[in-house]
Amino acid sequence: MSLQGQNTKNYTRQDTLRGTITADREWWDLTYYHLDIKVDPDAKTISGKNTIQYKVLKEYSTMQIDLQPPLQITRVIQNGDELEVIHDGNAHFIKLNETQSVGSVNAIDVYYKGKPKEAVRAPWDGGFSWEKDNNGKPFIATSCQGIGASIWWPNKDHMYDEVDSMLISVNVPKGLTNVSNGRLRKLEEHDDNTVTSHWFINNPINNYGVNVNIADYVHFSEVYQGEKGPLDMDYYVLRDNLEKAKEHFKDAPKMMKAFEHWFGPYPFYEDGFKLVEVPYLGMEHQSSVTYGNQYKKGYLGKDPSNTGWGLKFDFIIIHESGHEWFANNITYKDVADMWVHEGFTNYSENLFLDYHYGKEASAAYVIGTRKGIKNDKPIIGQYNVNKRGSGDMYPKGGNMLHTLRQLIEDDDKWRRILRGLNKTFYHQTVTSKQIEDYLSAQTGKDLTKFFDQYLRDTRIPTLEYSIDNKKLKFRYTNIVKKFDMPIQVVINDKTQWIFPKADWKTMPVDASDISIVPDFYVRSKKL
Ligand SMILES: [Zn+2]
Repeated sequence: MSLQGQNTKNYTRQDTLRGTITADREWWDLTYYHLDIKVDPDAKTISGKNTIQYKVLKEYSTMQIDLQPPLQITRVIQNGDELEVIHDGNAHFIKLNETQSVGSVNAIDVYYKGKPKEAVRAPWDGGFSWEKDNNGKPFIATSCQGIGASIWWPNKDHMYDEVDSMLISVNVPKGLTNVSNGRLRKLEEHDDNTVTSHWFINNPINNYGVNVNIADYVHFSEVYQGEKGPLDMDYYVLRDNLEKAKEHFKDAPKMMKAFEHWFGPYPFYEDGFKLVEVPYLGMEHQSSVTYGNQYKKGYLGKDPSNTGWGLKFDFIIIHESGHEWFANNITYKDVADMWVHEGFTNYSENLFLDYHYGKEASAAYVIGTRKGIKNDKPIIGQYNVNKRGSGDMYPKGGNMLHTLRQLIEDDDKWRRILRGLNKTFYHQTVTSKQIEDYLSAQTGKDLTKFFDQYLRDTRIPTLEYSIDNKKLKFRYTNIVKKFDMPIQVVINDKTQWIFPKADWKTMPVDASDISIVPDFYVRSKKL
């Protein structure tokens, strides 16, 4: 999702409990969740339980589970026994009675209820959105990136450990449909005028990817012939928007075509792909990408690049679906490394254009988004306290990757690397460092300083130069130590590589000026 606004604050014990792989987390590995809840649109409450199944990695007796007030854990049961729970803000420490032997697979049932926090400005300040559609019917959705899934259900709210599979059962009043991630396994009608939908996710999923969406939905679908065979693509939209959606969602198979080309097979064939209409802008919920871009091209009708190319596609369909590869397939362990999601997904927007409109269109788009870069704070945030870095992770991340593509100078190789990333880190949580090392290894270039410059520093490399007596003198300023990225310059209409460093270099030229090829995200200063 797009990022707006950031708080600066001192970190608290709660931040550490949330953002650290604590001792009460690291001894157990998530294997399965069954989230089983009732949603009451009139009372704006939820109640139910999450069954948390886990494999014991180390003998230990306390388990940290996260759930944010005002929701309350009412009891925790293991094998019929109620367990003692020590509450510490958003963290809850469960005292297990039984010996947790290494290798065994156990489960607890965490019962909870209450009025979940309402989203203030979904999805950036998320929670539950309780809206109404034009016919006055409930139109409800969850969003929780950053704030955490524990804003609405109890779980291990740290990104490093993804559950292997999950069942989501949601009970709602008859006449409404709940759409969650994965595939609909069963619909159960009850005598009390409610209906329960059971959605099964057959793949690892991160916490913030889990969602419920409740409305008077209508459904249409298509089968996409993809790299791994037929892929079900299902669309859930408000009843009144069906015809509009059938036309507008033609961007979805176009998206699938472009991204399978550049990134490899859609990572969740078993779960299918869905677009689900919601009352907020959108979010990359895994296999149920949520959509609220008002059936407009661009970002709510606007082009983030100001080039016109951004109006060739629906930003939310393309961007949020791009996250299926970078966010849902390859997932950050720590939100400090969120650029792995947003840098690559910002970059995916121009690869969509590249596939359908060509290389020049894509370059114009990504270069056009540079005006949004602030260079205020480094892209990488603070580790272990659930703190993301600068919003520059989007346009600057995209422009860094576009620059890297120039350095590789071989688009087939670049494509193999992007596909290789999705294969090598398939369904994994990663650190930025792992991605950086992979890119260095696969490109055959030591990119250490390149990433330090663009991810860990706010300065943009500047080529200082002068031309005197047919002699070009040049060097880099505003760089981290030993940054020496080659760049292409145009001299007398001829493109050539130069190799600037911190120290001055000279070369003969027969020109009054030079220009840097704009694909490189560097600045120039003629002295
Ligand atoms: Zn995003």
